[in-house]
Amino acid sequence: MSNTQNHTGFNVEIIRQDFPILNRKVNGKPLIYFDNAATSQTPQQVIDVIVDYYTNYNANIHRGVHALSQEATDAYEEARIKIQNHFNAKHSHEIIYTSGTTHGINLVANGFSSVLKKGDEVIVSALEHHSNIVPWQMLCERTGASLRVIPMNENGELILSEFDSLLNDNTKLVFVNHISNALGTINPIESIIKKAHSVGAAVLVDGAQSCPHIKPDVQALDVDFYVCSAHKICGPTGVGMLYGKEEWLNKLPPYQGGGEMIAEVSFEKTTYANLPHKFEAGTPNVCGGIAFGAALDYMNSVGFDAIANYEHELLNYATQQMLQIEDLKIYGTAKHKTSVISFNVGDIHPYDIGTILDKMGIAVRTGHHCAQPIMDFYKIPGTIRASFMFYNTKEEIDTFISALKKAVMMLS
Ligand SMILES: *Cc1c(COP(=O)(O)O)cnc(C)c1O
Repeated sequence: MSNTQNHTGFNVEIIRQDFPILNRKVNGKPLIYFDNAATSQTPQQVIDVIVDYYTNYNANIHRGVHALSQEATDAYEEARIKIQNHFNAKHSHEIIYTSGTTHGINLVANGFSSVLKKGDEVIVSALEHHSNIVPWQMLCERTGASLRVIPMNENGELILSEFDSLLNDNTKLVFVNHISNALGTINPIESIIKKAHSVGAAVLVDGAQSCPHIKPDVQALDVDFYVCSAHKICGPTGVGMLYGKEEWLNKLPPYQGGGEMIAEVSFEKTTYANLPHKFEAGTPNVCGGIAFGAALDYMNSVGFDAIANYEHELLNYATQQMLQIEDLKIYGTAKHKTSVISFNVGDIHPYDIGTILDKMGIAVRTGHHCAQPIMDFYKIPGTIRASFMFYNTKEEIDTFISALKKAVMMLS
């Protein structure tokens, strides 16, 4: 039996037929796409939904009495319910459409401007993406609250005993990613959420990297806010979601003013619409929302258990072979990690290796991965990052390993 079929019965060759982009060539070589942590590729099933929308029922939503507007509104709201079910939110109005993770975090950070005061403390982790650092720094500047950081160890794991000592009655908010985009570390968010709640602090989890690999249950986690982007889960760019507990979403003020988010407007006073519309000013990404729902349908049809098992196989397979390469150092060796490998070889600049790999049709990311504090921790300017999705194969990893060896030979 070929090694493309694993014990779950999941067959990668059949899966790959869903992704037309995987048939293309780059620099004359078959594309090997290992930049999935930056964005994932889109299956034909989702592309078809996008084409169908613009071909058959493109319209503005919630406004028109006409047929197209009704159809678009229904599809958009059905997708919201798919998202609700996927994340197991209690209410569909706890799902707010956003333009992506960054928008969701800014929406919450802005809302907390009216909750926080001087003397309050907020806690971030050392493993965050810039989009889960900068909005909170801006919030602290506006409110006088102070920012504390949960440190990490050499393996790229958060030091939870340090988190314990940062928590106190002034802690109002903790924000942490579920999985680090730079290192692949899976953070123990269950325990972080419990500890934060024990001092009355709310928790926002950045799920941008977790949603492609696992299916979070926001009620079981008891998380206050959870954010993600559709483009990392086989959906389109420019759309994402914010889950917020109803009580929190009612408490926070609207983020943007405009159409759709109001109940009544006069020049004396405006009253806001109910959830979720209070946070959805203006014409949204209607097609994006519908395609987001289709992407979740697709991922669920593949199955998250099969995805996790297979990606783990890819991670182990690649890690074993990479460790055979002299002077290759992997950053992020957490016990619990997902299919992301961040590495350097000797003192070769990551960009130089990335450029040679691209010539051979292999797409990896090089640089600081929007996580400069992590690079500072390791005292490096950046890494090369290979990140795998369930449509990648062991054969692609073999090609990548031999290309990497060639690149290292050329550069040393
Ligand atoms: C990609 C990513 C983001 C930013 O997502 P956008 O879609 O660019 O808003 C934030 N956090 C993590 C962990 C990410 O991987």
